Amino acid sequence: MDATEERLARELPAYARRVVDALEAAGFEAWVVGGWVRDALLGRPGHDVDVTTSAPWPEAERVLRAAGADVHETGVAHGTLTAVVDGRPVETTTYRVEGAYSDRRHPDEVRFVTDVREDLARRDFTVNAMAFHPKRGLLDPFGGRGDLGARVIRAVGDPRRRFEEDALRVLRAVRFACRLDARIEPRTREALVERAGGLADIARERVGQELDGILATGRVARALRGEFAVMAAAVPELAPMEGFEQRSPYHAHDVLEHTARVCAGVEEFTGGAASQALRWAALLHDVAKPACWSEDVSGRGHFFGHPAAGARVLREVMGRLAVPGETVRAARALVLLHDFEIRPTRASMRRMLAELEHACPGRARELSFALLDLKRSDAVAKASACMGYAVELDAMTRALREELAAGGVWRVRDLAVGGADVIRERGVEPGPGVGMVLEQLLAAVMAGELENDREAELAWLRW
Ligand code: ATP
Ligand code: MG
Repeated sequence: MDATEERLARELPAYARRVVDALEAAGFEAWVVGGWVRDALLGRPGHDVDVTTSAPWPEAERVLRAAGADVHETGVAHGTLTAVVDGRPVETTTYRVEGAYSDRRHPDEVRFVTDVREDLARRDFTVNAMAFHPKRGLLDPFGGRGDLGARVIRAVGDPRRRFEEDALRVLRAVRFACRLDARIEPRTREALVERAGGLADIARERVGQELDGILATGRVARALRGEFAVMAAAVPELAPMEGFEQRSPYHAHDVLEHTARVCAGVEEFTGGAASQALRWAALLHDVAKPACWSEDVSGRGHFFGHPAAGARVLREVMGRLAVPGETVRAARALVLLHDFEIRPTRASMRRMLAELEHACPGRARELSFALLDLKRSDAVAKASACMGYAVELDAMTRALREELAAGGVWRVRDLAVGGADVIRERGVEPGPGVGMVLEQLLAAVMAGELENDREAELAWLRW
């Protein structure tokens, strides 16, 4: 083993080592495979550990139980068990190849094999097709280590055939290229563009998971610029953005390049820690612009109603892709309000918080900063004419911080008085009239007509 392999052997977590050792002590062969090996070679050993073994799953289950692990039959039809050691899960799968892909009727069928190399050969990309053993070192029949070092995504085997077997790999190639900041090897890339249409036949939730994964890398801008054919095959609603010129002094780019810049911008402004909701919102904020376009007499383009139309497209797209509802609701609120007019005053920030509260109840505080990040990215991605606005946004962020630090008032329940005060001071009957008075009071406080102070509000009620 070389120095890197020695390092991996040291870094392999003890709980995973126990799984490998138990299987081998019982006379089987076992290797660590996939994401842990790839990421550990890159110096990121935090990935969960997957093990592949020659042991048929019932034997593996027996051996691992005897070694003191909790074993769950998480996917025995595919030969997969989950062994829990010291509270940590290790997915353990019998060497296998995918079944009758040729007829595409039984993509879930698997065939168990005896040689780990056959198991590695069924994997998608060379960087994902390495096995590691803490004593035997790296098993790398397809040159994954070299590709990883050179940051290349290369299909294992004939790329065209591999994408025909499973078109989801087209999107996975883009995900790993973004994740590893890698380029896609030319023949793999050619086959990928050719086979992107196959994504239409893939289960929507699998597509959704990979897309969510692409966004989670923080490098979706790269996918939009470099592999737009794949992105548009995954989400057909994106297609009209390409080449759509905005004919407006506020826009120097087509909708696609503008969107790529906004996606990159939200990462920059959040230090790479944007929420998934903000990332989806950046991707889709202008998706309805082509459909909402109109031209005025001077030949200038307008996009009336595109935030609301975009929010509808977003709900349709993200719902279809089975993205978790809470992400959809938050992203929808951000798209809906991305053009909402704000000024650097606390009253304006309160109005923004109230709008967010209305669009996504209970999450206004959290979303308020995301909305400012989206607006800031949107401004710098437009044209130099909008740069001043980006600077103004810093003042707005300060106003928002001040407002929140002072407790924030954008919901009836943030008021210093409540329903009982209204009933007593105004003499109104309990019922909807109480809520109406409170809404009026909230509007007055939000407009800055009075402080959110109990005495001031009681005086307002008496007046
Ligand atoms: P991540 O950190 O993104 O989960 P990963 O490498 O663990 O990375 P998974 O999608 O969890 O990726 O898959 C685990 C392994 O299974 C991959 O490394 C790859 O070897 C193999 N694999 C997964 N999906 C496919 C596929 N569609 N076709 C071929 N091999 C696949
Ligand atoms: Mg994984």
